Amino acid sequence: MGDLFHAVLVTRESDEKNAPQHVNDVELSTDDLMEGDVVVAVDYSTVNYKDGLALTGTSPVIRHWPMIPGIDLAGTVEALDGADFKTGDRVVLNGWGVGETHYGGFAQKARVKSDWLIPLPASISTQQAMSIGTAGYTAMLCVLELERQGVTPDKGAVVVTGAAGGVGSVAIALLAHLGYEVIASTGRVAESSYLKDLGANEIIDRSELSEKGRPLGKQRWAGAVDTVGSTTLANVLAATAYDGAVTACGLAGGGDLPATVMPFILRDVVLTGVDSVMAPKHKRMNAWQRLAKDLDLAKLESMTTTVPLSGVLDVGERIINGKVRGRTVVDVNS
Ligand code: NDP
Repeated sequence: MGDLFHAVLVTRESDEKNAPQHVNDVELSTDDLMEGDVVVAVDYSTVNYKDGLALTGTSPVIRHWPMIPGIDLAGTVEALDGADFKTGDRVVLNGWGVGETHYGGFAQKARVKSDWLIPLPASISTQQAMSIGTAGYTAMLCVLELERQGVTPDKGAVVVTGAAGGVGSVAIALLAHLGYEVIASTGRVAESSYLKDLGANEIIDRSELSEKGRPLGKQRWAGAVDTVGSTTLANVLAATAYDGAVTACGLAGGGDLPATVMPFILRDVVLTGVDSVMAPKHKRMNAWQRLAKDLDLAKLESMTTTVPLSGVLDVGERIINGKVRGRTVVDVNS
């Protein structure tokens, strides 16, 4: 029998689509892990919005039962089978179906494909890597996409929706560091001082963007990081300046897009999608290198809360209810 370790396991009562599910702390052996050429001794994982969906069963995120959730992890290579790493290497993993179809990060050990691993930049600890997590790495992908679309700080402000959430918080810190004027849209105006400390220049109430608006409005920003989707994204597009770009990465407000083509055909606005799960390795390497360079680690600490493995279900429930601020790291060894 392989080494024993602790994990969070989600099971369901039957194969029926909406069968009740259960979340338990269990002890597993490395022999129970799924296929892969690297075993990682996990230091930290994190609770992302998608983990909240998986833990609560709100959306069918889990596609293999039972499942160890946790869409990302950071730790040290413990054993490998001819892979490109060596024992002791510090690594980070985001996405690739981990926590959905392959056992994920809410465990003290993970066996994964070496292709999914990124070597951690020297200046980022495994704890900081998960403080950044998939949310922060996605925020970086959005900023890189804005740069690629020519939205530089001199072109005008960037609006960040879902500002007090994980993607939003990291996006604000990154954009402010890079010299952008940042407008933060939040439903929690009580968090204004938190958002300003991260670097937001202006706070707007999310209700300004959540009601059905006109096809085109005043040109308010050159770019956007949208984590909300639905009517909010439509209104963000309608207020984007000529030649601006909007990155869409989330659906915290809904997966629909009740928009018109007016911003595209009259203002040359670009709407660009951002996916972190299947992003190719070169994009990930670049994003992590840029995070090492452009993210203020003191700001990262100010947006981070740490919980033990036994705390993930509670955080998952709160994240779905929009009650979690910033990022939540999971110390899988406490
Ligand atoms: P969080 O829960 O941390 O943040 C989401 C934020 O959205 C909340 O804090 C809240 O911000 C706002 N929000 C929540 N509900 C609503 C609502 N009904 N209407 C408007 N705003 C709302 O999640 P993350 O930051 O981790 O993720 C944000 C989104 O991005 C999610 O949809 C997630 O699935 C997606 N995502 C996508 C990825 C990809 O690869 N494309 C990767 C990572 C995340 P506030 O309180 O400030 O209003």
